[in-house]
Amino acid sequence: MENKQHGKDFVEEGGQIAAKEQKGDEKQQVGEHAKLELTDFRLLRTLGTGSFGRVHLVQSKHNGRYYAIKVLKKMEIVRLKQVAHTKNERDVLMSISHPFIVNLWGTFQDDVNLYMVMDYVPGGELFSYLRKSKRFSESTAKFYAAEVLLAIVYLHGHDVCYRDLKPENILIDSTGNIRITDFGFAKRVPDVTWTLCGTPDYLAPEVIQSKGYGKAVDFWSLGILIYEMLAGYPPFYDESQFRLYEKILTSELKFPPHFSAEARDLLKHLLTSDLTRRYGNLKNGYRDVTEHPWFGDMDFEKMLHRQVPAPYVPPLSGDGDASNFDQYPEEKMPYGLPHSDPYGRYFKEF
Ligand code: AMP
Repeated sequence: MENKQHGKDFVEEGGQIAAKEQKGDEKQQVGEHAKLELTDFRLLRTLGTGSFGRVHLVQSKHNGRYYAIKVLKKMEIVRLKQVAHTKNERDVLMSISHPFIVNLWGTFQDDVNLYMVMDYVPGGELFSYLRKSKRFSESTAKFYAAEVLLAIVYLHGHDVCYRDLKPENILIDSTGNIRITDFGFAKRVPDVTWTLCGTPDYLAPEVIQSKGYGKAVDFWSLGILIYEMLAGYPPFYDESQFRLYEKILTSELKFPPHFSAEARDLLKHLLTSDLTRRYGNLKNGYRDVTEHPWFGDMDFEKMLHRQVPAPYVPPLSGDGDASNFDQYPEEKMPYGLPHSDPYGRYFKEF
Protein backbone atom coordinates (compact mmCIF):
# COMPACT_ATOMS: atom_id res chain seq x y z
CA MET A 1 0.00 0.00 0.00
CA GLU A 2 1.25 3.43 -0.84
CA ASN A 3 2.15 5.38 2.24
CA LYS A 4 0.15 8.58 1.89
CA GLN A 5 1.57 10.02 5.11
CA HIS A 6 4.43 11.31 3.11
CA GLY A 7 6.40 14.53 3.01
CA LYS A 8 5.49 16.41 -0.13
CA ASP A 9 1.88 15.23 -0.02
CA PHE A 10 1.02 17.13 3.14
CA VAL A 11 2.94 20.18 2.05
CA GLU A 12 1.57 20.63 -1.45
CA GLU A 13 -1.82 19.08 -0.96
CA GLY A 14 -2.57 21.52 1.86
CA GLY A 15 -2.14 24.42 -0.54
CA GLN A 16 -4.26 22.80 -3.24
CA ILE A 17 -7.12 22.11 -0.86
CA ALA A 18 -7.09 25.69 0.39
CA ALA A 19 -7.01 27.06 -3.16
CA LYS A 20 -10.18 25.12 -4.00
CA GLU A 21 -11.85 26.46 -0.88
CA GLN A 22 -11.48 30.08 -1.92
CA LYS A 23 -14.47 30.86 -4.00
CA GLY A 24 -13.58 32.88 -7.08
CA ASP A 25 -16.45 35.32 -6.73
CA GLU A 26 -15.45 36.25 -3.20
CA LYS A 27 -11.84 36.72 -4.14
CA GLN A 28 -12.83 39.15 -6.85
CA GLN A 29 -15.11 41.13 -4.62
CA VAL A 30 -12.85 41.25 -1.63
CA GLY A 31 -9.35 41.60 -2.64
CA GLU A 32 -7.80 40.39 -5.80
CA HIS A 33 -8.28 43.38 -8.06
CA ALA A 34 -9.48 46.55 -6.39
CA LYS A 35 -7.40 47.88 -3.50
CA LEU A 36 -9.35 47.56 -0.29
CA GLU A 37 -10.27 50.55 1.83
CA LEU A 38 -11.70 51.05 5.27
CA THR A 39 -14.89 52.50 3.75
CA ASP A 40 -15.55 49.08 2.16
CA PHE A 41 -16.42 47.78 5.64
CA ARG A 42 -18.76 48.45 8.55
CA LEU A 43 -16.70 48.29 11.72
CA LEU A 44 -18.32 46.05 14.38
CA ARG A 45 -17.03 44.92 17.74
CA THR A 46 -13.49 44.19 18.95
CA LEU A 47 -12.48 40.51 18.85
CA GLY A 48 -9.06 40.76 20.43
CA THR A 49 -6.21 43.07 21.21
CA GLY A 50 -2.51 42.86 20.47
CA SER A 51 0.50 45.03 21.31
CA PHE A 52 0.04 47.36 18.35
CA GLY A 53 -3.70 47.62 17.98
CA ARG A 54 -6.79 45.49 17.86
CA VAL A 55 -8.70 43.02 15.73
CA HIS A 56 -12.26 44.00 14.75
CA LEU A 57 -15.17 42.08 13.41
CA VAL A 58 -16.29 43.91 10.24
CA GLN A 59 -18.90 43.41 7.56
CA SER A 60 -18.26 44.08 3.89
CA LYS A 61 -20.60 46.71 2.43
CA HIS A 62 -20.26 44.95 -0.95
CA ASN A 63 -20.98 41.29 -0.28
CA GLY A 64 -22.38 41.40 3.29
CA ARG A 65 -19.81 38.88 4.52
CA TYR A 66 -18.01 39.10 7.80
CA TYR A 67 -14.25 39.51 8.07
CA ALA A 68 -11.73 40.21 10.79
CA ILE A 69 -9.57 43.29 10.32
CA LYS A 70 -6.35 43.54 12.27
CA VAL A 71 -5.42 47.18 12.85
CA LEU A 72 -1.80 47.98 13.62
CA LYS A 73 -0.60 51.43 14.66
CA LYS A 74 2.38 52.39 12.51
CA MET A 75 3.91 54.51 15.26
CA GLU A 76 3.81 51.61 17.76
CA ILE A 77 5.30 49.18 15.25
CA VAL A 78 8.23 51.53 14.63
CA ARG A 79 8.64 52.34 18.35
CA LEU A 80 8.74 48.64 19.27
CA LYS A 81 11.06 47.84 16.34
CA GLN A 82 8.60 45.45 14.75
CA VAL A 83 8.73 46.81 11.18
CA ALA A 84 10.42 43.67 9.81
CA HIS A 85 8.09 41.34 11.75
CA THR A 86 5.04 43.15 10.43
CA LYS A 87 6.28 42.89 6.85
CA ASN A 88 7.02 39.20 7.41
CA GLU A 89 3.48 38.66 8.64
CA ARG A 90 2.00 40.22 5.53
CA ASP A 91 4.40 38.54 3.08
CA VAL A 92 4.03 35.09 4.61
CA LEU A 93 0.23 35.23 4.88
CA MET A 94 -0.18 36.63 1.36
CA SER A 95 1.96 33.87 -0.13
CA ILE A 96 0.47 30.82 1.56
CA SER A 97 -2.85 29.08 1.63
CA HIS A 98 -3.83 26.16 3.86
CA PRO A 99 -7.05 24.69 5.32
CA PHE A 100 -5.81 25.29 8.88
CA ILE A 101 -4.28 28.75 8.43
CA VAL A 102 -6.32 31.93 8.41
CA ASN A 103 -6.82 33.40 4.96
CA LEU A 104 -5.57 36.96 4.40
CA TRP A 105 -7.53 38.74 1.67
CA GLY A 106 -5.49 41.88 1.48
CA THR A 107 -3.93 44.79 3.32
CA PHE A 108 -4.14 48.56 3.13
CA GLN A 109 -3.14 51.58 5.19
CA ASP A 110 -4.12 55.12 6.07
CA ASP A 111 -1.94 57.83 7.58
CA VAL A 112 -1.94 56.23 11.04
CA ASN A 113 -2.62 52.49 10.76
CA LEU A 114 -2.04 49.33 8.76
CA TYR A 115 -5.04 47.08 8.12
CA MET A 116 -5.07 43.35 7.40
CA VAL A 117 -8.34 41.86 6.12
CA MET A 118 -8.73 38.20 7.09
CA ASP A 119 -11.49 35.64 7.14
CA TYR A 120 -13.48 35.90 10.34
CA VAL A 121 -12.99 32.71 12.37
CA PRO A 122 -16.09 32.72 14.61
CA GLY A 123 -15.53 29.89 17.13
CA GLY A 124 -13.16 31.85 19.37
CA GLU A 125 -9.72 30.98 20.65
CA LEU A 126 -8.74 27.40 21.43
CA PHE A 127 -7.41 28.99 24.63
CA SER A 128 -10.92 30.01 25.79
CA TYR A 129 -12.33 26.58 24.99
CA LEU A 130 -9.43 24.90 26.81
CA ARG A 131 -9.87 27.06 29.93
CA LYS A 132 -13.60 26.37 29.92
CA SER A 133 -13.00 22.62 29.55
CA LYS A 134 -10.14 22.68 32.15
CA ARG A 135 -8.35 20.05 30.07
CA PHE A 136 -8.97 17.99 26.94
CA SER A 137 -9.29 14.24 26.56
CA GLU A 138 -6.45 12.61 24.65
CA SER A 139 -8.64 12.22 21.55
CA THR A 140 -9.65 15.91 21.56
CA ALA A 141 -6.05 17.02 22.09
CA LYS A 142 -4.97 14.68 19.30
CA PHE A 143 -7.44 16.24 16.87
CA TYR A 144 -6.17 19.79 17.47
CA ALA A 145 -2.53 18.69 17.62
CA ALA A 146 -2.86 16.88 14.27
CA GLU A 147 -4.31 19.96 12.55
CA VAL A 148 -1.64 22.22 14.03
CA LEU A 149 1.02 19.71 12.98
CA LEU A 150 -0.26 19.68 9.38
CA ALA A 151 -0.13 23.48 9.31
CA ILE A 152 3.43 23.46 10.65
CA VAL A 153 4.53 20.83 8.14
CA TYR A 154 3.05 22.92 5.33
CA LEU A 155 4.77 26.09 6.58
CA HIS A 156 8.12 24.36 7.01
CA GLY A 157 7.74 22.92 3.51
CA HIS A 158 7.56 26.54 2.35
CA ASP A 159 10.56 27.53 4.47
CA VAL A 160 8.43 29.40 6.96
CA CYS A 161 8.99 29.01 10.68
CA TYR A 162 5.89 30.00 12.69
CA ARG A 163 7.63 30.70 16.01
CA ASP A 164 4.61 31.72 18.10
CA LEU A 165 2.50 28.64 18.57
CA LYS A 166 0.12 28.94 21.56
CA PRO A 167 -3.59 28.36 22.17
CA GLU A 168 -4.43 32.09 21.87
CA ASN A 169 -3.31 32.00 18.23
CA ILE A 170 -5.34 28.95 17.34
CA LEU A 171 -8.91 29.83 16.44
CA ILE A 172 -11.85 27.47 15.99
CA ASP A 173 -13.89 27.86 12.81
CA SER A 174 -17.63 27.31 12.39
CA THR A 175 -17.09 23.60 11.68
CA GLY A 176 -14.81 23.05 14.69
CA ASN A 177 -11.59 22.88 12.68
CA ILE A 178 -8.73 25.17 13.55
CA ARG A 179 -7.24 28.20 11.84
CA ILE A 180 -3.90 29.52 12.98
CA THR A 181 -3.70 33.30 13.12
CA ASP A 182 -1.09 35.91 14.09
CA PHE A 183 1.90 35.53 11.83
CA GLY A 184 3.68 38.46 13.49
CA PHE A 185 6.67 36.27 14.31
CA ALA A 186 6.57 34.00 11.29
CA LYS A 187 9.67 34.17 9.18
CA ARG A 188 11.16 32.64 6.08
CA VAL A 189 14.03 30.53 7.37
CA PRO A 190 15.74 28.22 4.93
CA ASP A 191 18.16 27.44 7.73
CA VAL A 192 18.69 29.14 11.10
CA THR A 193 17.73 32.44 12.65
CA TRP A 194 18.43 34.31 15.88
CA THR A 195 15.88 36.94 16.96
CA LEU A 196 14.34 36.55 20.44
CA CYS A 197 10.58 36.47 20.12
CA GLY A 198 7.58 34.35 21.05
CA THR A 199 5.67 33.91 24.27
CA PRO A 200 7.59 33.00 27.49
CA ASP A 201 5.72 29.78 28.38
CA TYR A 202 6.24 28.42 24.88
CA LEU A 203 9.87 29.54 24.26
CA ALA A 204 12.28 26.78 23.27
CA PRO A 205 15.60 26.43 25.15
CA GLU A 206 17.64 27.38 22.09
CA VAL A 207 15.61 30.60 21.80
CA ILE A 208 16.25 31.58 25.44
CA GLN A 209 19.94 30.83 25.03
CA SER A 210 20.08 32.94 21.84
CA LYS A 211 21.68 30.08 19.97
CA GLY A 212 20.72 30.08 16.33
CA TYR A 213 17.44 28.28 15.99
CA GLY A 214 15.34 26.94 13.14
CA LYS A 215 12.17 25.07 12.48
CA ALA A 216 12.77 22.79 15.48
CA VAL A 217 11.28 25.55 17.69
CA ASP A 218 7.84 24.85 16.25
CA PHE A 219 8.12 21.20 17.30
CA TRP A 220 9.09 22.29 20.79
CA SER A 221 6.01 24.56 20.94
CA LEU A 222 3.85 21.75 19.59
CA GLY A 223 5.04 19.70 22.58
CA ILE A 224 4.10 22.51 24.97
CA LEU A 225 0.72 22.83 23.29
CA ILE A 226 -0.01 19.08 23.53
CA TYR A 227 1.07 19.08 27.19
CA GLU A 228 -1.09 22.11 28.00
CA MET A 229 -4.13 20.65 26.23
CA LEU A 230 -3.81 17.39 28.18
CA ALA A 231 -2.91 18.91 31.57
CA GLY A 232 -4.77 22.24 31.44
CA TYR A 233 -1.53 24.11 32.23
CA PRO A 234 1.84 24.36 30.47
CA PRO A 235 4.70 22.08 31.60
CA PHE A 236 7.18 24.72 32.75
CA TYR A 237 4.86 27.18 34.42
CA ASP A 238 6.32 29.64 36.98
CA GLU A 239 5.22 33.08 38.18
CA SER A 240 8.79 34.30 37.95
CA GLN A 241 10.06 34.65 34.40
CA PHE A 242 13.59 33.83 35.57
CA ARG A 243 12.53 30.52 37.11
CA LEU A 244 10.35 29.79 34.09
CA TYR A 245 13.40 30.12 31.84
CA GLU A 246 15.40 27.91 34.22
CA LYS A 247 12.72 25.24 34.06
CA ILE A 248 12.62 25.39 30.27
CA LEU A 249 16.40 25.08 30.05
CA THR A 250 16.52 21.98 32.26
CA SER A 251 13.38 20.66 30.44
CA GLU A 252 12.51 18.40 33.36
CA LEU A 253 9.07 17.03 32.63
CA LYS A 254 6.56 15.99 35.26
CA PHE A 255 3.45 14.28 33.99
CA PRO A 256 0.05 14.20 35.71
CA PRO A 257 -0.99 10.57 36.34
CA HIS A 258 -3.70 10.58 33.66
CA PHE A 259 -1.22 11.09 30.75
CA SER A 260 -1.02 7.93 28.62
CA ALA A 261 2.33 6.18 28.07
CA GLU A 262 2.22 7.18 24.37
CA ALA A 263 1.61 10.85 25.20
CA ARG A 264 4.51 10.86 27.67
CA ASP A 265 6.81 9.27 25.14
CA LEU A 266 5.95 11.74 22.38
CA LEU A 267 6.29 14.71 24.75
CA LYS A 268 9.71 13.55 25.96
CA HIS A 269 10.84 13.51 22.35
CA LEU A 270 9.40 16.95 21.52
CA LEU A 271 10.31 18.71 24.76
CA THR A 272 14.01 17.98 24.78
CA SER A 273 16.55 20.80 24.68
CA ASP A 274 18.90 18.47 22.82
CA LEU A 275 18.30 19.42 19.19
CA THR A 276 19.98 16.24 17.99
CA ARG A 277 17.21 14.25 19.69
CA ARG A 278 14.14 16.43 19.21
CA TYR A 279 11.46 14.85 17.01
CA GLY A 280 10.73 16.91 13.94
CA ASN A 281 14.38 17.87 13.74
CA LEU A 282 15.89 14.45 12.93
CA LYS A 283 16.53 12.74 9.64
CA ASN A 284 12.92 11.50 9.38
CA GLY A 285 11.65 15.06 9.79
CA TYR A 286 8.07 15.44 10.91
CA ARG A 287 7.34 11.76 10.20
CA ASP A 288 8.78 10.87 13.60
CA VAL A 289 5.78 12.80 14.95
CA THR A 290 3.01 11.79 12.52
CA GLU A 291 4.07 8.13 12.83
CA HIS A 292 4.42 8.16 16.61
CA PRO A 293 2.08 5.70 18.41
CA TRP A 294 0.22 8.60 20.09
CA PHE A 295 -1.08 9.47 16.63
CA GLY A 296 -1.48 5.74 15.85
CA ASP A 297 -5.17 5.90 14.95
CA MET A 298 -4.97 9.29 13.20
CA ASP A 299 -5.65 9.46 9.45
CA PHE A 300 -3.71 12.60 8.50
CA GLU A 301 -4.90 12.41 4.91
CA LYS A 302 -8.54 12.57 6.00
CA MET A 303 -7.65 15.24 8.51
CA LEU A 304 -6.22 17.48 5.81
CA HIS A 305 -9.49 17.18 3.90
CA ARG A 306 -11.43 18.07 7.05
CA GLN A 307 -13.09 14.67 6.98
CA VAL A 308 -12.40 13.83 10.61
CA PRO A 309 -15.37 14.95 12.75
CA ALA A 310 -14.39 17.79 15.08
CA PRO A 311 -14.65 17.11 18.83
CA TYR A 312 -16.50 20.40 19.37
CA VAL A 313 -18.57 22.56 17.06
CA PRO A 314 -18.93 26.09 18.46
CA PRO A 315 -22.44 27.38 19.18
CA LEU A 316 -23.21 30.10 16.60
CA SER A 317 -26.46 31.93 15.91
CA GLY A 318 -25.33 33.31 12.53
CA ASP A 319 -22.30 34.34 10.45
CA GLY A 320 -21.55 37.51 12.42
CA ASP A 321 -22.01 35.97 15.88
CA ALA A 322 -19.05 37.01 18.06
CA SER A 323 -20.27 35.53 21.35
CA ASN A 324 -17.37 33.06 21.44
CA PHE A 325 -14.92 35.94 21.93
CA ASP A 326 -14.26 37.85 25.15
CA GLN A 327 -15.72 41.33 25.43
CA TYR A 328 -13.32 44.27 25.18
CA PRO A 329 -14.04 47.90 26.10
CA GLU A 330 -14.84 49.62 22.80
CA GLU A 331 -13.02 52.90 22.43
CA LYS A 332 -14.10 55.31 19.74
CA MET A 333 -11.77 54.42 16.89
CA PRO A 334 -10.95 57.47 14.80
CA TYR A 335 -9.69 55.32 11.93
CA GLY A 336 -9.19 56.91 8.55
CA LEU A 337 -8.84 60.56 9.66
CA PRO A 338 -6.25 62.65 7.83
CA HIS A 339 -3.02 62.91 9.80
CA SER A 340 0.65 63.42 9.11
CA ASP A 341 2.27 60.14 8.06
CA PRO A 342 5.92 60.11 9.13
CA TYR A 343 6.16 56.29 9.07
CA GLY A 344 4.45 55.55 5.75
CA ARG A 345 7.81 55.03 4.05
CA TYR A 346 8.42 51.90 6.15
CA PHE A 347 5.27 50.19 4.91
CA LYS A 348 5.18 50.77 1.15
CA GLU A 349 3.99 47.23 0.42
CA PHE A 350 0.79 47.53 2.48
P1 AMP B 1 -3.40 38.82 16.99
O1 AMP B 1 -2.95 40.21 17.29
O2 AMP B 1 -3.25 38.45 15.55
O3 AMP B 1 -2.79 37.80 17.93
O4 AMP B 1 -4.95 38.78 17.30
C1 AMP B 1 -5.43 39.07 18.58
C2 AMP B 1 -6.72 38.30 18.83
O5 AMP B 1 -7.71 38.71 17.88
C3 AMP B 1 -6.61 36.78 18.63
O6 AMP B 1 -6.10 36.12 19.76
C4 AMP B 1 -8.07 36.43 18.37
O7 AMP B 1 -8.81 36.40 19.56
C5 AMP B 1 -8.56 37.62 17.54
N1 AMP B 1 -8.42 37.33 16.10
C6 AMP B 1 -7.31 37.46 15.34
N2 AMP B 1 -7.54 37.11 14.07
C7 AMP B 1 -8.83 36.72 14.01
C8 AMP B 1 -9.69 36.22 12.96
N3 AMP B 1 -9.24 36.06 11.70
N4 AMP B 1 -10.97 35.90 13.27
C9 AMP B 1 -11.42 36.07 14.53
N5 AMP B 1 -10.66 36.54 15.55
C10 AMP B 1 -9.40 36.86 15.31
